[in-house]
Amino acid sequence: MDLERDVAATAASLHELGVRRGDRVAILMENSIEFVRVLFAAANLGAIVVPVNFRLSSREVRYILADSGALVLAVSDRFRDLATDALAEGGHGVRQILVETAGAPIGDYPVSRLDELLTAARRDPDPLVRAEDTCVIMYTSGTTGSPKGAMLTHGNMQWNVFNMATVGSGLSSSTATIAVAPMFHIGALGLSVLPILYAGGTVITVRAFDPGRTLELMQRYQTTTQFMVPAMWAALSKVPDFDSYDVSSMQYVLCGGAPCPLPVIEFYQQRGWMFLEGFGMTEASPNTLLLDEESVVSHAGSVGRPFMHVDVRIVDNEDHDVAVGEVGELVLRGPNIFAGYWGRPAETAEATRGGWFHTGDLGRADADGFITLVDRKKDMIISGGENVYPIEVEQVLYRHPAVSEVAVIGVPDERWGETVVAVVVPEGDGIDEAELIDYTRNRIAHFKCPRRVVFVDELPYTATGKLLKRTLREQFTGVAA
Ligand code: ATP
Ligand code: MG
Repeated sequence: MDLERDVAATAASLHELGVRRGDRVAILMENSIEFVRVLFAAANLGAIVVPVNFRLSSREVRYILADSGALVLAVSDRFRDLATDALAEGGHGVRQILVETAGAPIGDYPVSRLDELLTAARRDPDPLVRAEDTCVIMYTSGTTGSPKGAMLTHGNMQWNVFNMATVGSGLSSSTATIAVAPMFHIGALGLSVLPILYAGGTVITVRAFDPGRTLELMQRYQTTTQFMVPAMWAALSKVPDFDSYDVSSMQYVLCGGAPCPLPVIEFYQQRGWMFLEGFGMTEASPNTLLLDEESVVSHAGSVGRPFMHVDVRIVDNEDHDVAVGEVGELVLRGPNIFAGYWGRPAETAEATRGGWFHTGDLGRADADGFITLVDRKKDMIISGGENVYPIEVEQVLYRHPAVSEVAVIGVPDERWGETVVAVVVPEGDGIDEAELIDYTRNRIAHFKCPRRVVFVDELPYTATGKLLKRTLREQFTGVAA
């Protein structure tokens, strides 16, 4: 398959369909070569790609189509019903649908098949497209509120690729990976697809994540690198006969997007994997911090230091730098930092005040500049005037053998302001609330220990693997009263 040729033909077809510079092209598809082809073709025309999270409800999909003002929607077979329902709700500007196979009509919209777009004569990239033009409107995960469309420019994406080239053993035409994290999230595009294709390497796309199959593909294609979110790394480590797969071709792997439980990191390190932890976010395209090979052991628990082309400061509520070791908010500046939230000038101004992007993440730096993430500002618990960072409490509970998953949240409390509650998915039976509370009391300050532990069958996650603590807070308000 010649990606460059197919992209040029698809770009010509999109142009014939009326797509122009600045128009929005939405993609509601699983990871596939077609996804990548539409992405590059639209970008070649200077159009703006809007990847849509396919785990959203039809109402939420409609919101993103309307919010972004998409003219074209590319939809894979599996999501035709979702697209039909979303479009039927109206209030959006979609005029053209691209589909994989003929199938049933989608409303009365004009429909083109993606493979038909390949027959047009090639079209070269629009010469007017500049580094500062928006390439993608990437919606944030919606962990702390409704998803916001981050405008990422061609330049932002390119600088992120340059940052990626400095990771592990670098990028080359023999770099190979499996794109398993969903491409509607910046992680898959920014850590797998774009850097590796830039280097002329190989990207294997899979439509859904299956841990056993991922290991099998790693072995079959002798892949050299892999990015996944912590929940995926955890699932992979539980594949039966993990050690019977030959994945010795793997040079380095990356984990990021959410805090990774230490036992998961240790599982891979014990097997000699170069397991690098990164920290990033949609607004930074996404790479921001990396714990590199030399420091993985010496600075375990830290998310590392800034990538080459990004500046990071840690500031207090008045935007003054905090001292070494003090907790503050991470603020960022650099050529990878987004151009603003689409259609939200007030939120953009607030988030980028003083010329620095305010991440909403709290961290502290040591004397060597290694940053340890403390928690999200919005998740911090203030109990009796003391700051409790839930992640610290979670890491303690993860060490208990009877804990499979845990989320620590603050719930309103008349006496203490907020009180600490642990929501636990147990591993096996016979686990006891009092025993878990005692376990934490022997390991961290008493004010940080949960006052209540509630047991659940599963925790709510966003499609990108982030714990939805706002959902848990709503659900368990009053549990400690
Ligand atoms: P929203 O902005 O809509 O609330 P979100 O912030 O979860 O959602 P993303 O841009 O997908 O959306 O995620 C970025 C966030 O993920 C970071 O701000 C940080 O809180 C978290 N994160 C990323 N990497 C790590 C990591 N290695 N460890 C802990 N948290 C991480
Ligand atoms: Mg965010």
